[in-house]
Amino acid sequence: MKLLIASNNKHKIEEIKAVLDGKFDEITSLSEEGLVCDPDETGETFYDNALIKAHAVAQLTDKAVLADDTGLCIKALGGRPGVHSARYADDHDNAANRRKVLTELHNVTDRAAYFQSVVVLLYPDGKIISGEGKVSGYILNDEKGANGFGYDCIFYSTELNKTFAEATTDEKLTVSHRSRALQDLLSKLK
Ligand code: IMP
Repeated sequence: MKLLIASNNKHKIEEIKAVLDGKFDEITSLSEEGLVCDPDETGETFYDNALIKAHAVAQLTDKAVLADDTGLCIKALGGRPGVHSARYADDHDNAANRRKVLTELHNVTDRAAYFQSVVVLLYPDGKIISGEGKVSGYILNDEKGANGFGYDCIFYSTELNKTFAEATTDEKLTVSHRSRALQDLLSKLK
């Protein structure tokens, strides 16, 4: 089966390809196919948003489409930014989104948080298979580490004992929400 990843995020694409390596006949992404697609994520759940992305890209290809939707859920903020993670302060401005989180958590001691990912595989015949993954940790007071993307440099993984931005991609993938969601999906394909 040929798979097209419904994302414009090079970090996400790298992570997805690393986990799915060898599991499909071919894995490409939007830019590799010369496609442009950036639908509004208007869903109320990660699953809804992943499906919105998958269906939008499916209009442009006859390949199977894989879409992921992810969010950072912070206990002291009642689960925010959650499904609004990409546009928490400003649309797809990662630095501004992180600043807003750190400001809201100023002087907050319970900094527990988790990343949640939902991945959706949409076949050309309309069949859908999904997977879910979660990783727990807490939010630091300041950014730490230079790898990764998004909220990685403020998320301290209690499983890795470092932030996701201090981890290599391979280390992050041993515990991450996204790799767990993809493993969940793969288990349903067998
Ligand atoms: P989306 O799933 O692409 O809509 O991403 C939602 C938001 O979460 C964006 O601000 C991303 O930068 C951020 N994000 C998604 N995945 C990760 C991750 O693995 N680490 C850190 N931030 C992420």
